[in-house]
Amino acid sequence: MTIAVASGKGGTGKTTVSVNLARVFGTEVRLLDCDVEEPNAHLFLNCSKSGEEIISIPIPQVDESLCNGCGECGSICQYHAIVSFGTVPLVFPEMCHGCGGCAKVCPTNAIHEVARRIGVVEAAQAGNITLIQGRLDIGVAMAPPLIRGVKAHLHNGLPAILDAPPGTSCPVIATLRDSDFVLLVTEPTPFGLHDLKLAVEMVREIGIPFGVVVNRMGIGDNRVHAYCTEQNIPVLLEIPDDRRIAEAYSRGELVVESLPEYRALFVSLLQKTMNAHKLFPQRVHAEGTS
Ligand code: SF4
Ligand code: SF4
Repeated sequence: MTIAVASGKGGTGKTTVSVNLARVFGTEVRLLDCDVEEPNAHLFLNCSKSGEEIISIPIPQVDESLCNGCGECGSICQYHAIVSFGTVPLVFPEMCHGCGGCAKVCPTNAIHEVARRIGVVEAAQAGNITLIQGRLDIGVAMAPPLIRGVKAHLHNGLPAILDAPPGTSCPVIATLRDSDFVLLVTEPTPFGLHDLKLAVEMVREIGIPFGVVVNRMGIGDNRVHAYCTEQNIPVLLEIPDDRRIAEAYSRGELVVESLPEYRALFVSLLQKTMNAHKLFPQRVHAEGTS
């Protein structure tokens, strides 16, 4: 089973839920940190690095001697990463998504592809957790291909938890796609509710069953709960607004280890998630954009 942990905005406790859920799994589990612009799950695990893989995407390189300036390459590129004004095209590597479209349509085979590094995928071991994290190179804004590189380490038959980037944009869709269940983490505040609604829309569009985790219970109001009740969305866990949790977080400690009284909460979240997944074993459909 692959469980994705997402939230409509950053700072809601998504990583706290991911790492603590992974720890209470008890058996071998993969934790994939797909927040490749700012991976931080490793900060909470006493990891020993076991491997690293460079991830690249193919970008076009034009052989000027073969180019007739027809402009077909620029016409097909959705990202304006290759532009021709009846001349040999200009290539903007930082905007290229590596789709290969321009090379395919070039009538003179003037385009061949060269690898452009975008980041690394690192592996580390921490007890029952195999951590796989993506780390985007500085100045690169091409998260989805790196996220796919992280997700290539999903193993059939092994449970996995995906820590998604915050928000509802393409990198989040790339993370959630093909997951079995999504936990949406939010806070009981008007901002939390606003971003939860966006996240719910996104997950419903992709067609993956989901439930909600409410973090910092005790602040704000009850509108998140009212919304979940009205929308028939299960609230699978409420994490109290306990200063000691924030202190453990700031020290890079797992809540289930530094505050063992919370272990039962995360174990129950795991059980409820498994049960909820059994209730909704089929994904409605699996569509999305990259
Ligand atoms: S590989 Fe795709 S994204 Fe990159 S320049 Fe060619 S058409 Fe555009
Ligand atoms: S499609 Fe090929 S021949 Fe036409 S402008 Fe682009 S590189 Fe040149």
